[in-house]
Amino acid sequence: MSQNAPPLDPPQRLLMGPGPSAVHPRVLEALAKGTVGHLDPYYLELMDGLQGLLRQLFRTNNELTFAVSGTGSAGMEATVVNLIEPGDSMVVCINGVFGSRMAEVAERAGAVVTRVERPWGEVFSVEDLESTLEQARPKVVGIVMAETSTGAYQPLEEISRRVHEAGGLLLVDAVTSLGGVPVEVDAWGIDAIYSGTQKCLSCPPGLAPVSFSPRALEVIRSRKTKVQSWYLDASLLASYWGSNRVYHHTGPINMSYALYEALRLIHEEGLEACFARHLLHHEALAAGLAALGIGYTAQPGHRLPMLNAVAVPKGVDDAAVRRGLLEDFGIEIGGGLGAFAGKVWRIGLMGYGARTNNVLLFLAALEHLLAKQGHPFSAGSGVAAASAHYT
Ligand SMILES: *Cc1c(COP(=O)(O)O)cnc(C)c1O
Repeated sequence: MSQNAPPLDPPQRLLMGPGPSAVHPRVLEALAKGTVGHLDPYYLELMDGLQGLLRQLFRTNNELTFAVSGTGSAGMEATVVNLIEPGDSMVVCINGVFGSRMAEVAERAGAVVTRVERPWGEVFSVEDLESTLEQARPKVVGIVMAETSTGAYQPLEEISRRVHEAGGLLLVDAVTSLGGVPVEVDAWGIDAIYSGTQKCLSCPPGLAPVSFSPRALEVIRSRKTKVQSWYLDASLLASYWGSNRVYHHTGPINMSYALYEALRLIHEEGLEACFARHLLHHEALAAGLAALGIGYTAQPGHRLPMLNAVAVPKGVDDAAVRRGLLEDFGIEIGGGLGAFAGKVWRIGLMGYGARTNNVLLFLAALEHLLAKQGHPFSAGSGVAAASAHYT
């Protein structure tokens, strides 16, 4: 039988899509270290270390800060199911795919969900939420900080203030934003937040960092019903991550090594330097794309540096370009989701992937493939514009 199973030989890829993104070599090395037991003193110490590094990255003192075993969507479920009891009112802001997913998760958790919608590519202002906050009186308001389907960058500070005035808790999706732009959990008053390892943390998919504010913790402690998910019950998880160390489930040991090393890399570089690097490469890429006549889909002033969602030029075959990038250059970018299918390319500059060589290589490859399709521009203009931005 085993003769039928070929040896593992994944192709070399340059991951420049919406995630997973490029994994740092030091993170890959960390994954390959020897597995210890999940109650081994070494692992328990590593969990403490991870929590400390995550608190620094989330810029929070929240005691309940840890990594859920699962991808970003597990973080979404974990934050929602712990805060919501059947019949609770929840408002979800939807301007792309991930807001819709959050509304779906909240409904399954028994919330009475009110959807507030904005066109794809646009962001929410306080005014957009005003009447809904009055009418729905939500226990929780959910919003996506970096909408990976559209490239829109949602400001949170004012919305957070207004949600609290209305007596609600603010729940934030920071899957794509964490590690790429500032995420200020305490300063902005975020009550529950989740992320994922495979976007700006330069790590493979598999863990979902989360954090709950003392206010959220109070809400969880005063629940009248049990959390609908045993696996994601924050009180049970807190006993495992806290000082009691009560066995709950087997922690994903090697992924914890990987996340630990990934967070060490970010803190070694320094948060400000890391955010500045994401911005620099985004601006260089934007300059290169502009020279090719390619524009962004997100509203001006609200564009994410790590996720560049741009319009496929008129007359260009979206699928052929993405196939050419993958087959001829080993580069993966993302296509459009939902309403943007066939119309948008999503170019990720996340974590370890946000580098000069990736930007210039991608632009050169794109120019080559566009020229093949007869797209009019002067060859080399994209690379030249990006290069000028660097120099
Ligand atoms: C990727 C992503 C998710 C889902 O994360 P998975 O790791 O795929 O489960 C949720 N929200 C946003 C904004 C994302 O970009």
